[in-house]
Amino acid sequence: MKKVILFLLAAVTVFVVSACGEAETVDIGISMPTTSSTRWISDGYSMKEQFEAEGYSVTLEYAQDDITTQVSQVENMITKGVKVLIIAAIDNQSLTDALDKANDAGIAVIAYDRLILNSEHVDYYATFDNFGVGVLMGQGIADALDLENEAGPFNIELFAGSPDDNNSVFFYNGAMSILQPYIDSGKLVVLSGQDEYNQVGTLRWDGTVAQTRMENILTSAYSTGEVVDAVLSPYDGLSIGIISALRSNGYGLESGDTPMPYVTGQDAEQASVQAIIDGYQGSTVFKDTRTLAGIAVQMADAIINDEEVITNDTETYDNGERVVPSYLLIPVFVDESNWEEALLDSGYWQESDFDLE
Ligand code: BGC
Repeated sequence: MKKVILFLLAAVTVFVVSACGEAETVDIGISMPTTSSTRWISDGYSMKEQFEAEGYSVTLEYAQDDITTQVSQVENMITKGVKVLIIAAIDNQSLTDALDKANDAGIAVIAYDRLILNSEHVDYYATFDNFGVGVLMGQGIADALDLENEAGPFNIELFAGSPDDNNSVFFYNGAMSILQPYIDSGKLVVLSGQDEYNQVGTLRWDGTVAQTRMENILTSAYSTGEVVDAVLSPYDGLSIGIISALRSNGYGLESGDTPMPYVTGQDAEQASVQAIIDGYQGSTVFKDTRTLAGIAVQMADAIINDEEVITNDTETYDNGERVVPSYLLIPVFVDESNWEEALLDSGYWQESDFDLE
């Protein structure tokens, strides 16, 4: 009997120690760029929730668009001994040293939505078809102005995302794959003359920077009666600034005579969906952050359990050191005709989030 009790005690001890050990060692570090946009809040907390449901412990940090803060948050996660790091980088070039340290510590790295460049230690990449996102924006403009049939010319102004975000060039190139032929034929005119990628970037995706640039363009290129017909904007936060500049320069429904140009966007942010409902913004691109979070969770879980990591693209995303195996999700174009179906039926937003009067 004594032997049996001793054996049971030993077994329980082993069980408790290994259970505790697992809880302590299997840990995930999630580094997100900012809470200034709801999408990143949703990404971070969706992952945290899904990981915790699987029994993992999670460290989730937001760096408020400050590069050094993000680097030190990631380094702290490495010190904490996480098994997998999931990072949406603020600046695609600033994490090289941190990733070297992660590699030395045997930590796997998943680039989340934004590819990290110039490091061989980016193991996987979870994102959307970023070129496809841009195509949806360009096609939205082409359809809204009926460029195939109308003679034009129409005036368009171009905005790109943050130059240090690898996605920016993909969004821009996707949009320009539709728009450039119309610019070349003269059906679309960029009156400001700012039509090169390096002239149209918006550092840190900052809406006030976009607003100021739009105001300057209106003052310098549209003061003699010309009107803007469309604006390529790759993010809802920029679109808000651009729309403010336009409205304070006499565009908009209530002024009657100068209609709002067709302004694009991305992320289906609440204020911008409201702007679509109210007729100020033409469209946005919906990327379901819950689904992307699910992909990253699956990847991390497979890495930890030494199982095969599912990817669907092993060609597109060369980070300068290696082509990073990626999983690309499909983005959804949203405008006034389908916002309810895309955003309410999926439960991403509730009807009560919007003023429908
Ligand atoms: C993301 C976009 C987002 C932008 C600004 C990009 O990397 O892919 O969804 O609009 O960052 O946060």
